[in-house]
Amino acid sequence: MEYAKFAMGGNIIAMQTMTVARARQSASAGQSARLQGWIRTRRDSKGGFSFLELNDGTSLDNVQIIADAQLPNYESEIKHLTAGCSVTVEGDVKESPAKGQETEVQASSIVVHGWADPETYPLQKKRHSFEFLRTLAHLRPRTNTFGAVARVRNAVCRSIHQFFQEEGFLYIHPPIITASDCEGAGEMFKVTTLDLARVPKTGSAVDFTQDFFDRPSYLTVSGQLEAEIFACALGKVYTFGPTFRAENSNTSRHLAEFWMVEPEMAFFELNDNMDLAERFLKRIFSDVLSACSDDMQFFDKRIEKGVVATLEGVANSQFERLPYTEAVDILKGSGASFEYPVEWGHDLQAEHERYLTEQHFKKPVILFDYPRSIKPFYMRVNDDGRTVRAMDILVPKVGEIVGGSQREERLDVLSERMAEQQLDPDAYWWYLDLRRYGTVPHSGFGLGLERVVQFATGMANIRDVIPFPRVPGNADF
Ligand code: ATP
Ligand code: MN
Repeated sequence: MEYAKFAMGGNIIAMQTMTVARARQSASAGQSARLQGWIRTRRDSKGGFSFLELNDGTSLDNVQIIADAQLPNYESEIKHLTAGCSVTVEGDVKESPAKGQETEVQASSIVVHGWADPETYPLQKKRHSFEFLRTLAHLRPRTNTFGAVARVRNAVCRSIHQFFQEEGFLYIHPPIITASDCEGAGEMFKVTTLDLARVPKTGSAVDFTQDFFDRPSYLTVSGQLEAEIFACALGKVYTFGPTFRAENSNTSRHLAEFWMVEPEMAFFELNDNMDLAERFLKRIFSDVLSACSDDMQFFDKRIEKGVVATLEGVANSQFERLPYTEAVDILKGSGASFEYPVEWGHDLQAEHERYLTEQHFKKPVILFDYPRSIKPFYMRVNDDGRTVRAMDILVPKVGEIVGGSQREERLDVLSERMAEQQLDPDAYWWYLDLRRYGTVPHSGFGLGLERVVQFATGMANIRDVIPFPRVPGNADF
């Protein structure tokens, strides 16, 4: 808490800085307050005073400041305030006679910190396209939408940590730079200090012994393999951090840098994994609804009609659980025309996933037991020999939000799977050691933070739910 001390009648009175969120509550009426933030609008009344709308990021809504012409800097400064100017306001919170607000602030002083020339300040207009705002990553947090996204993203992160901490999980930190590639998770960014104009070679191959790490290294695509190490020692753990995939896909659901939560649990089988993931998602969405109710009303009204009801529905529904094989039958019998044909043994495309969750079941769907040929080596092989204990959770609009599996804990089966996928066992010696010494059944999954925020807010493009989106051709700011 910060206090402004000023003298009044010989007494030192401590004036507390009050957030706009607090100043808007009727319980604050009658209090003196100092508020600090940015002007959204100014309106001058004929009666010789001005209304200022002030926002400080603590709530979607502004608080209204009433600035009388008696203020010493009224003519020289206050009457020139425009959108984007920064101020400190001191005054009294009062009940407001106006509609749509419980309180307003009668200013006793307004100090201007920074001007924002209306001739050049880009956020003059009330509404800008999200595409245009992507070119203004430094200013878009000042808009209603991006402020609300930031608050929802924060609420999701808090909920993630609270959920796992309450469940007794340990938060662990896998490396960002790695030499292992979590087979198949995605295209990797290389990390190197070699001079790209003069790459050292032995024959035609790059001589990585001259590189920083002595070998090819990459930005991580997943912390799963490292999380398994800790789960196989400490029980229940989770990672939560940035993840990188150099997939050249310009979609509305893919980023080159995104945040992923990856819980990993010893002694969990696939059903336990699904139960945990379902409880986890429901918890996140109900926390967002209660922590960000004003922001969620805004998304419901302005971004996606019905998104609040959708989240409430998810929080209270039972997810559909369905083997991949049955999903293929449903899709084949659906009569829907897909761009890509549905065939057992092929990966489902986004259009198939969306059909299942949006049209057929109209709620989140957990697909499990996928063909072994399309899934990574670490997923546990079922007794049928054809499928593995994989699970994906699909939600309307976004499609896949969670991908996970029960891991193969049997050394012989795991080695066989690695051979099948032409992986060098020497490169995974430590991963195999986990099966050699005290192996246990275990499971985990990955949840993409941005996909959660996308689903929760209804924002159409994933680039608008991360502060600085990294996508092909853009790493500017
Ligand atoms: P997709 O099929 O959608 O490309 P994936 O199967 O490659 O995803 P996983 O490797 O299973 O994804 O990763 C786990 C989770 O991480 C996904 O369910 C998704 O929520 C998220 N995710 C994966 N790739 C991306 C990406 N490029 N951008 C944002 N989130 C992602
Ligand atoms: Mn996946």
